[in-house]
Amino acid sequence: MNTLSVTVSAKHYPNGHCAIRNLAFSAAPGEFVAIVGPSGAGKTTLLKIISGLDTAYDGSLELAQQTRVGFMFQEPRLMPWLTVADNLALADKHVSGDVLAQALERVGLKDCAGLFPQQLSGGMQRRVALLRAFLIAPQLLLMDEPFQSLDGPTAEQLRTQLCTLWQASRPTVLFVTHHLAEALSLADRVLFLSAGPSHIALDFAVSLPRPRGLESAAVQQLVQQLQQDYPDLLKGSLAGAA
Ligand code: ADP
Repeated sequence: MNTLSVTVSAKHYPNGHCAIRNLAFSAAPGEFVAIVGPSGAGKTTLLKIISGLDTAYDGSLELAQQTRVGFMFQEPRLMPWLTVADNLALADKHVSGDVLAQALERVGLKDCAGLFPQQLSGGMQRRVALLRAFLIAPQLLLMDEPFQSLDGPTAEQLRTQLCTLWQASRPTVLFVTHHLAEALSLADRVLFLSAGPSHIALDFAVSLPRPRGLESAAVQQLVQQLQQDYPDLLKGSLAGAA
């Protein structure tokens, strides 16, 4: 049984704009799926449909029964008036202090439980947001460009922590990014969206062994190979495919 199966025959916004047309895919339990596409391709629209926030579309969404869905967005979205511990407790009010302390230690935030978000760096805030997303033990985790606008080493550290957390509990992950190397360094499978109205232009399996750093030779080689085979892929087109 798949964690999710989604079919969007058409998604129109009230102004008549068609953002998605004939897009369908399924994701298996524990699968890490990256969704890559040019700006405006409909990635955020698709995540809103899958999260249930947007029901105004033609198509269907099937989630395994009682699927717990976690989220991580572009911004950490921490409550500025709450401490790190209280921000995390908002996700799961039954979580014990010991569990929180262990979780914080695992992502290198050992002494940060009593700090407020503004006392943390951007990277540390994202680590709290990452922990919060995993705290509810989601079966499906939706991530919308969660490491955008971080410097390279900080983003790489977060990717490593994401992989560790994912491998420990194995939710199905849908990870939206427009960064090809990031997608290839994380995912089992990359769905390339066409330019809008979007459909899946290419469903690409990544079989590289983990861990795979973004700068590793294997990932960089695959980036080059894809760019060579499909020069317009990141513009949302397979035109010129070898
Ligand atoms: P992406 O996340 O890939 O950048 P979006 O899902 O945000 O793309 O948007 C897909 C398309 O739908 C874009 O052309 C965008 O301008 C349009 N769009 C998004 N939200 C709305 C809206 N509320 N009303 C009309 N058009 C929208």
